[in-house]
Amino acid sequence: MYQNLIFDWSGTLVDDMGPTLEATNAVFAIHGRSPLDRDEFRRLFRLPYSEFYEEHLPGIRLEDLEHHFRRAFAESQVPVTVLPHAREKLDWCRDNGIRCFVLTSMDRGTFELQLDELGMRHYFEATYSGVLDKREVIGGILAQHQLALHQTAYLGDMIHDVVTAKHGGVSSVALLTGYTHREVLEACEPDWLMNDLLEFRTLMEQRTSSIS
Ligand SMILES: [Mg+2]
Repeated sequence: MYQNLIFDWSGTLVDDMGPTLEATNAVFAIHGRSPLDRDEFRRLFRLPYSEFYEEHLPGIRLEDLEHHFRRAFAESQVPVTVLPHAREKLDWCRDNGIRCFVLTSMDRGTFELQLDELGMRHYFEATYSGVLDKREVIGGILAQHQLALHQTAYLGDMIHDVVTAKHGGVSSVALLTGYTHREVLEACEPDWLMNDLLEFRTLMEQRTSSIS
């Protein structure tokens, strides 16, 4: 079974949909667009987020959008929380010698703040944030840390995460705890489709004990 796990952050380890939706709607409001509700957001939002904004707010500079988004996100009163079963999964990985990493599109400043505020930093050997297109860096991460492809999985909640895993040649684990509906994730054929990290931990426990 897997010896190395690379995690996405939003929707995989933490629930930040509240402030993300608020910030997205703040950016939309500046440009005269009506707000999205939670369900619309889950259907429409995608990574790389540059493509999402180009579709919905065409012709506006990404730097300007990011500036307004980050400010609204920081000002949001809706808390970011660790998803159920995430901490337990990471504890299990630590106890079983599984190496853990993060690869996220979230901007570095916000990510680093959350990593410390939520007390999660010690779980990870290395983290990579502010990555717009994850396909461009997955190969470098695997090489830098000498992660064997057949022993490594990338876990995420969006199509881009599954695509990134396939691009890197590692297993793809799609999780339903985040931004994307089941049928959308099913359609991109991940190696595993899991309700949450408890289900994935149970799978790894079973596989690990059956090998030893
Ligand atoms: Mg995510």
